[in-house]
Amino acid sequence: MYDYDLLVVGSANADLVIGVERRPGPGETVLGSDLAVHPGGKGANQAVAAARLGARTALLARVGDDGHGRLLLDSQRAAGVDTVGVLTGGAPTGVALITVDPSGDNSIVVSPGANARLTPADVRAAKVLLASARVVSAQLEIPLETVAEVVRSLADGSRFVLNPSPPAALPAEVLAACDPLVVNEHEARVILGGSAGDAPEEWAAGLLALGPRSVVITLGAEGALVADGGSAARVSSVKVAAVDTTGAGDAFTAALAWRLGRGEDLWTAAAFAVRVGAAAVMKEGAQASFPTFEETQAL
Ligand code: ATP
Repeated sequence: MYDYDLLVVGSANADLVIGVERRPGPGETVLGSDLAVHPGGKGANQAVAAARLGARTALLARVGDDGHGRLLLDSQRAAGVDTVGVLTGGAPTGVALITVDPSGDNSIVVSPGANARLTPADVRAAKVLLASARVVSAQLEIPLETVAEVVRSLADGSRFVLNPSPPAALPAEVLAACDPLVVNEHEARVILGGSAGDAPEEWAAGLLALGPRSVVITLGAEGALVADGGSAARVSSVKVAAVDTTGAGDAFTAALAWRLGRGEDLWTAAAFAVRVGAAAVMKEGAQASFPTFEETQAL
């Protein structure tokens, strides 16, 4: 019996957002809107998305001993995430400084802060937590060596889901554990380098050749492509009026990981996850846009 359906190992950031008429050039100062501070980071987002759907979720992350860290902890707890694995201190909470112009184009500077201090030793110290989760997921806004330690520390029988964002070259031992590797088009192209090809089916074949047990490629409004050693097939999305796609990938990945842990096959889990992704694009923001299970069913 597992205590958690999903343990997310990943980043937690405060997103500091200022609207501007025009993003500043080098050496330039511009005036902007009032500052908005939102909880974010791919790890924190995916944990909130899963918990909002009803998954018993825990987060293993590191935040600073500061106001942003408390904001992150509060938002996790409000969504129902168990924060027993959220470590505090070592550096300020990670921050994303975001300026957005009226056309929606943005410039972002990320200070990883405490996220960069989530170490392999932290993972080893969380052995009991890791063994308590049916599915363990990670992204790459924490050190790659920490993700590699997660893979080494997986308990027998638990499943590993990796969303390699931002994309990076992955060691063979990490790739071999992924079931699935969940990427969007950009991540697929970066990981495959020059050999990407043009069709998602080609990307899936190329990614599978790198060693993961299965691959899921998200395709925005087109839905997703799911592939394992045996077959590859598209899963259509739901047609919705998209308002803001921020966080759609996080909502999708969290939903997929949860449903895989419930014993669904990849295709069935992806069919649920595309509905969750679609629901997430119907509202502004990242965590604020994640749907409940009932909202997903109503689509
Ligand atoms: P983001 O970086 O914006 O969070 P992403 O690029 O990682 O997203 P996408 O492939 O854009 O990921 O979207 C993830 C999933 O969300 C898609 O597989 C799809 O199910 C859903 N989705 C995204 N955009 C739309 C849309 N316009 N209409 C319906 N569903 C969408």
